[in-house]
Order: sequence, then structure tokens, then C-alpha cells
Amino acid sequence: MSSGDQVALIARRMTQVIALIVTILLPLGYWVITFSNLSVELQFKAKVKATSFSSLINSNPGLWIYAENQMQGRLTREPVALETELVQVYDVEGVLITQAGQIPAPPKLSRRYPLYDGVGVVGQIEVSDSLRGLIYSTVVVSAFGLLLGASILVFMWAFPLRALQQTLQALVDSEFRFHTLVDLLPYGVQENDLTGCVTFVNPAIEHMYCQRKESITGRFIWDFLAEDLERESLRDYLQFLIREQPPLTPYFSKVRHLDGSVIDVQIDWAYDRNKHGQVKGFITIISDITERKQMQEALQEQATHDPLTGLFNRRALNETLLHELYRSQRSGEPLTVAMLDLDHFKQFNDTYGHEAGDLVLQAVSELLRCSLRASDIACRYGGEEFTVVMPGSSLDNARNRLDEVRQAIGHLRLRYQNDELPPITVSIGIAELIDQETDSATLLGRADAALYQAKEQGRNQIVVATILRNYKIDPGISLS
Ligand code: GH3
Ligand code: MG
Ligand code: MG
Repeated sequence: MSSGDQVALIARRMTQVIALIVTILLPLGYWVITFSNLSVELQFKAKVKATSFSSLINSNPGLWIYAENQMQGRLTREPVALETELVQVYDVEGVLITQAGQIPAPPKLSRRYPLYDGVGVVGQIEVSDSLRGLIYSTVVVSAFGLLLGASILVFMWAFPLRALQQTLQALVDSEFRFHTLVDLLPYGVQENDLTGCVTFVNPAIEHMYCQRKESITGRFIWDFLAEDLERESLRDYLQFLIREQPPLTPYFSKVRHLDGSVIDVQIDWAYDRNKHGQVKGFITIISDITERKQMQEALQEQATHDPLTGLFNRRALNETLLHELYRSQRSGEPLTVAMLDLDHFKQFNDTYGHEAGDLVLQAVSELLRCSLRASDIACRYGGEEFTVVMPGSSLDNARNRLDEVRQAIGHLRLRYQNDELPPITVSIGIAELIDQETDSATLLGRADAALYQAKEQGRNQIVVATILRNYKIDPGISLS
């Protein structure tokens, strides 16, 4: 039986109990009250009459013995109406002395009160009335109670109870739907109270943390994060959220599995509020974004790096160079760029094959990576051309270091398929950013012109671009 049916059954039982109570209690209550009223009334009447009789006996004791007729007369003259009651007077032995009024139809209710003379009890007076009227009226009230109880049943069943059952069923259905959804969701659904304590988790969370829900609930949301710092910052952030209650934005972190592996997660949350609108916790959706993040990183890598050499590509160069150019202009620090081009590489390729050429390109790239400073940025400009951006390097400094690179390239000894490849040389043109220069293309253009000059002058050398008035390119100084 579903919990909705159970609640409906309870509601139906309650209605039946109410109807039954009304059906029984109404006539019973009526009977008890009316009966006790009648009883009190008869008792009172017996007492009044007995008191009156006692005073009569006291004032004229002789009268007591012969007073049957007179008593009859006095009884009939009593101010209390005696239409329905029967009043009877007994002596001490219980022998009826006299009586007045009508004999009540059975069953009857009687109340007695003692009669006193000056010395003690001399008899008793009894007032009786028929209970038949009370029984009749109680039957009428019972019928009314029965009608009322039945009406309650019918009314409750026909309207509120049915509506209640329908509402409950809808609630149960919706809860069932909700739980099924939450159980099936591939995302972790979790509830936390204001202290950060986990109060509910769905199966996806168990899967994500590699733990049973019994060992997750009762612990804090940050307990499952991978690093101490992350734990602290989430705890602080939660405090901030509770204090300031800003609009919630996704929170990114890392979760550690029981087996020690770490996954990237995105935490989306909403405030959980009580009926007064006060925040009582958080409902969070935790998604495993490891694959997405890896994919993003791979895409980012692809978008900014050259696949053959692993160096930055031209697109990344353009962004970086512009960034460094502005930085240099702000800080006043020097910025030097160099264009490198392998000499007679087409011939090398033609002679030793494209794959051997690739090997050379990779070796030159590796050499560039190792010999430059961490702040220098080496890019594959295209083909067998490379660009090096050297922030904070003066022209002299850059020239010296790049000449070392040039010599190191010349000393590279590579083997391809057991054959030693001939040495390869490189020509380099370098240019330093000048004050008036705001365009990275101009700076690169000057370095390229210097490179061209290095080629012209016989290759395997460095040419530094110097500036003449009106930004004309100087033929440059060669260093070979
Ligand atoms: P120079 O000394 O004047 O620079 O002569 P060069 O032969 O190096 O210049 P050129 O521009 O004529 O030839 C460049 C060659 O670089 C052409 C092409 O075969 C080679 N090349 C370009 N990209 C790649 C690549 O990815 N792999 C290989 N193996 N070779 C490449
Ligand atoms: Mg070239
Ligand atoms: Mg070349």
C-alpha cells in the first residue's frame, strides 16, 4: 500500500471515528444531562416537601398519626406543580401513609428524603416521575445523532476527504517522480544544512565519491575535496554565502576518491529555505567535469600550440606579443623579438626526407625551450621559422643569448634511421621595441627585415635591426 493510500485510510478512519463519536455521544450526553437534571429536580422536590412536612409534624405532633386526610389536602395545596410527579409519604417502617399526584408510567425515577419530628426520623417522602418522556426524547436525539454522524461521513467523504486523498496522491506521485529522477540523474544531488553537513545524497554522489551514502551523510561537504586549501576555501565561502546570501554561481573544485584519484567537479547550488523564507541549507548538484576540462585543455592546447614541436603557434604569438608590448610600454622595460629561419631547409628536406626535416624542427624547438629563460616565449611562426619574444631583455642581452642558440643549433648532431644528419644552421633577425611603436606587426616586421638581411649576408648569423629617423629600417649590424 502506498503512503498516499495509508494517509487516506487514516483520514477515512478518523472521519468514521468522528461520525461514531457524534452518533453515540450526542444521545448519551443528552441522556446523562437530562437524567441528572431530573434526578436533581426530584431530589430537590423531595427535600422541599420533606422540610415542609417536618415543620408541620413539629408544630402539631398529634396530627402525624391522624393526618392522612389532612396531608392529602396539604399535598394537593403544595405550590410546586405536581402534574407529572407522584409524591408518596412513608412511615419509618416503610409503610405508605399517603400519596398525591399521578402514578407515573414505568419506568420511573424516584428520589427520597427523610421526615423529622423533634426527636428523629419519623418517615420518608418519595417523589417519582416517569422516565418515559426522557427515553422518547433520547431516542429522538439518538436518531438525530445518527443522522448527523452519517452526514459527517457522507460530507467528509464526498468533498474534503476525496480532495485530500487526491492531493495526497498527487503529492506521493510527484515525490515518487522526484526520487526516481534524482536516483537516475547522472549528476550528484546533495543536500547540506547550514553547517555544511551532508544530509542527503543520490546514487550518483555515492558513485562519484566511491562511498556508500551512510558514510557520506553526516560529514561536511568540504571533507571530500582533494586539497586542504580547497577545503578551507569552500568552508569560508559557505560562511560567506550564509552571511551575505548573494546570488549563487557555480563553484569549481576537485574531489578525491577513496582510491586516491582526483576528479574535477562543478558545484551548482540553490539556497534551501524554510516556510518563512529563511535559508536552512543548500541543495547542490555536483557534476564530474574531468572529461570536459581535459577536453577544454586539449582544445586550448590545440588552439595555441603547434602539434609538431609543442611550441606556441602564431595565433598564441599574436596574443602574447600584444600583451607584452602593452606591458613594456607601461613598465618601460625593454622588449625584444627575434625571427629565426633555418638555412637551406628545403634542400635539407629534399635530400633527407620530410621526416628527417621534422626531426630537425623538433630538436631545434627543444633546444629553444631549454636555452631560453622562463619568461621568454618561443613560437613556431610557420614552416621552418621561429619567433622568440624576450620580455625585459635588452637588445645586447638578447643578441648574446640568441647567438648562443644559433651556435648550439649549428652544433646539433642528429641521427635519423641510423644515419647521421648534417649540421643545420639558422639565421636570426632581432629588433627591440622602440617608444613610438604601438603595433606588434611593425616590431615583427623589423625583426623579419633583419632576418632577411642575415640571409642576404650569407646566413648562419644574427642581424640586429636598428632604427633610423622616420622609422626607416637600418640595414643592421650583423654578427656571424
Ligand atoms: P632559406 O635558407 O632561404 O631559408 O632557404 P629555405 O630552403 O630554408 O627556405 P624555403 O622557404 O625555400 O623553404 C622552406 C622549407 O621548409 C620548405 C619546406 O620543405 C620546409 N618545411 C616547411 N614546413 C615544414 C615541416 O613542417 N616539416 C618539414 N620537414 N619541412 C617543412
Ligand atoms: Mg623560411
Ligand atoms: Mg629557411
